[in-house]
Amino acid sequence: MQEQALYGAKMMQPGLTAADSEENNLRPQHLEDYIGQEKVKQNLKIYLEAARRRGEAMDHVLLYGPPGLGKTTLAGIIANEMGVQIRITSGPAIEKPGDLAALLTNLQEGDVLFIDEIHRLSRQVEEVLYPALEDYALDIIIGKGPSAQSIRINLPHFTLVGATTRAGQLTGPLRDRFGVLLKLELYSPDELARIIRRSAGILDQPITPEGAYELAKRSRGTPRVANRFLKRVRDFATVLGDGVIDEEVCLMALRRMDVDELGLDELDRSLLRAIIEMYGGGPVGLETLAAALGEEAVTLEDLSEPYLMQMGFLTRTPRGRCVTHLAYEHLGMRPPEHLAPEESGQQTMF
Ligand code: ADP
Repeated sequence: MQEQALYGAKMMQPGLTAADSEENNLRPQHLEDYIGQEKVKQNLKIYLEAARRRGEAMDHVLLYGPPGLGKTTLAGIIANEMGVQIRITSGPAIEKPGDLAALLTNLQEGDVLFIDEIHRLSRQVEEVLYPALEDYALDIIIGKGPSAQSIRINLPHFTLVGATTRAGQLTGPLRDRFGVLLKLELYSPDELARIIRRSAGILDQPITPEGAYELAKRSRGTPRVANRFLKRVRDFATVLGDGVIDEEVCLMALRRMDVDELGLDELDRSLLRAIIEMYGGGPVGLETLAAALGEEAVTLEDLSEPYLMQMGFLTRTPRGRCVTHLAYEHLGMRPPEHLAPEESGQQTMF
């Protein structure tokens, strides 16, 4: 039972795991195959077209939003649409200014450099990035002491695509150097169902529309979770069913994987329960809550809160986090009087 619960909780983490290594073949390659995020797509289409017509590299782009929403995918699409190469790295992987210099000097004209978790770049590395972004140049100091000399190396015109789960943690000077800021939102169940049907098509896996929707509803608004569910439910359909993913197989598989009917995992439920049982429903500060749960504050902020807020279970106030009456009801508890639903009724998405 313990093992099963863990399995379920891990399945729902939107962070990348080894099991997602084959997710590359499910990644859309062109903007027209990228489902949802309509506002982002519409704007991006214009920026891409404008850059193409001018024959220039696209302006630097910052993508932000929770993990698993399609930031890496979008960076790949930008490169594809511009007909250039993409180099992929991440903030923590670029340890020294020299690492960044090596990456930059190896770029070709127009290339896309994708830096995931860009908020984790060190200050020193960031300093090297500024002139690269602004003037396509690298300032290198040769020698030490009074005889030290600064040499400027010209770089090809490239596009930096930075991705972060937390735009607020980027330093001001770095944020200001991005010409395009795009915020990715959690996906609706309809969009996720389309993503699941598309992925099933690529995997050559028959799925009914009802089956796809059942998985979509529990995927925490996140394509990575949706694709992961699809692959596991496919195993159940192959071994225990007739190979087709329909509603019945989905319900059986999700129950066995310990996924709750709204897609909440153990962490989400313990977060809500802690606010209710230890802090009378809130408000409680994020750090206090994280300490009570033995988790990092960033884990709660990145992985649990976006979905809980989208579902209307949690609110953020200046004094801290509060649960809503919907959270009490979902956990089978009676909400206190002051949280009784208002006339207008607060609705969840589903
Ligand atoms: P992030 O970089 O934000 O963590 P990824 O770009 O790695 O997320 O996306 C995770 C997976 O979800 C990819 O394998 C991709 O196939 C799928 N995916 C993400 N966004 C979309 C989308 N809009 N349409 C179809 N599939 C998507």
